[in-house]
Amino acid sequence: MYINGQWCDAIDGARFQVTNPANGDVIGDVPNGGVKEAKAAIDAASEAFKAWSKTTAYQRSAFLYKAYGLMMERKEELARLMTIEQGKPLKASRNEVQYAADFLLWYAEEAKRIYGETIPAPRGDQRFIVQQHPVGVVAAVTPWNYPISMLTRKMAPALAAGCTIVLKPAESTPLCAVETFKIFHDAGLPAGVVNLVTAEKPAEIGDEFVSNPKVAKLTFTGSTNVGKMLNQKAAANMKRVSMELGGHAPFIVFDDADPEHAAKGVSLVKFLNTGQACISPNRLFVHKSIAEPFIETLQARVQKMRGGNGLEDGISIGPLVGPGAVDKVERQVEDAVAKGARVVCGGHRLLDNGLDKGHFYAPTVLADVTEDMLIYREETFGPVAPVITFEDEAEVLERANDTNYGLAAYVYTPNISRAFRMYEGLKFGIIGINDINPTAAAAPFGGMKESGLGREGGHEGIQEYLETKLGGFAI
Ligand code: NAD
Repeated sequence: MYINGQWCDAIDGARFQVTNPANGDVIGDVPNGGVKEAKAAIDAASEAFKAWSKTTAYQRSAFLYKAYGLMMERKEELARLMTIEQGKPLKASRNEVQYAADFLLWYAEEAKRIYGETIPAPRGDQRFIVQQHPVGVVAAVTPWNYPISMLTRKMAPALAAGCTIVLKPAESTPLCAVETFKIFHDAGLPAGVVNLVTAEKPAEIGDEFVSNPKVAKLTFTGSTNVGKMLNQKAAANMKRVSMELGGHAPFIVFDDADPEHAAKGVSLVKFLNTGQACISPNRLFVHKSIAEPFIETLQARVQKMRGGNGLEDGISIGPLVGPGAVDKVERQVEDAVAKGARVVCGGHRLLDNGLDKGHFYAPTVLADVTEDMLIYREETFGPVAPVITFEDEAEVLERANDTNYGLAAYVYTPNISRAFRMYEGLKFGIIGINDINPTAAAAPFGGMKESGLGREGGHEGIQEYLETKLGGFAI
């Protein structure tokens, strides 16, 4: 753990092991912290806030530039660690490290653009100014699926704003968090500005984060269930929250789109990170008239995907995070098949060639998926592409919006008017129009409805760590 500028153990010396999800090998261990360590980290962050919040934007920017440079220098070793600890293929790990570094660079610049304003006052002897000030100590909880970029997406804007941080990473990917914190340490951040508490059991630390009076804000990325629970507890203490939660993205292919191009697009985005992404397409709505060529192309591409250890060449499907994740995928596929879905390809665990030691499920395409199936309603977080057919625009818009989630949605059509209608009509925070990757450090990322509160990235991302402060001056 990293508390007040020192690398340290848990007070009782307890540790927990970290395993490689591709083969079950133990790859390391980390301190198993608890409430005492969380309190110590919060105290350190609170003390450090006094000086850090007074630094200039230019000083904070310089630290972030330094951290960016270090992350780029260490890109390859970070990517290899990510593949060993989280399982995604090496190329995807490299892409994630780049994405993570992009937030450091973007917020190194945004730090210098925390503008205020002056407002004409109603009295002649009065002046109004408005400034934006850092909220204070930020507690952050991050997930395992993007184990470096989800840290920098929170830490870079918080630091740029002048906040100090205590972060608890996911229990299955603490090693990536440790290496990320080494970068902040080596960039020379003052003691206490960033603090890392690793723990095998997250609940008591989460409770400390939402109840400790020194914490001003909780920023959470993870499942909707845990997000709701933490949000309720945070509300009792009126803490600010940002929540990046689950998704159930529709991917809509209209009859005027090229079905092969769309199938190629979905084959690239659906199976990224083995489907373990909150913006992963989860319901493929394809116009009935082009469903056949779409499914044929998708099948041809998916059948070529190889599952295995992401360090090996030619692997595009890594392991799922754990046995529970494989069980969930299997349950959704079995339920769909029992209710009439057709397995186009996949539809089983991957057990050959030593893969039984990891958590592998074959990349799968299901056709004839209908509303009564679990997969139509539940986030899958696995490598399954369920195809649903539709016949008209109004119908598909209504069906796409018929979910409690509202994170990402995708549309394929060459018709500009229809594209605008869909962009405006879909109740999701991120819409990709003929675009499978509508994300970047410069763009706001976040969801509507039960997909969360607030935005990360873009100029919006820094607002989450700022309070608006009015000054009224009688002159
Ligand atoms: P999860 O909610 O179980 O865990 C996420 C984090 O919360 C982990 O650090 C975990 O230790 C912690 N946590 C769990 N229970 C807690 C508690 N009681 N108190 C405090 N912390 C607690 O989610 P997961 O299954 O690990 O992650 C996958 C989910 O995250 C998916 O639903 C996915 O859609 C979502 N996600 C969302 C985004 C986004 O930006 N919207 C990005 C990545 C993942």
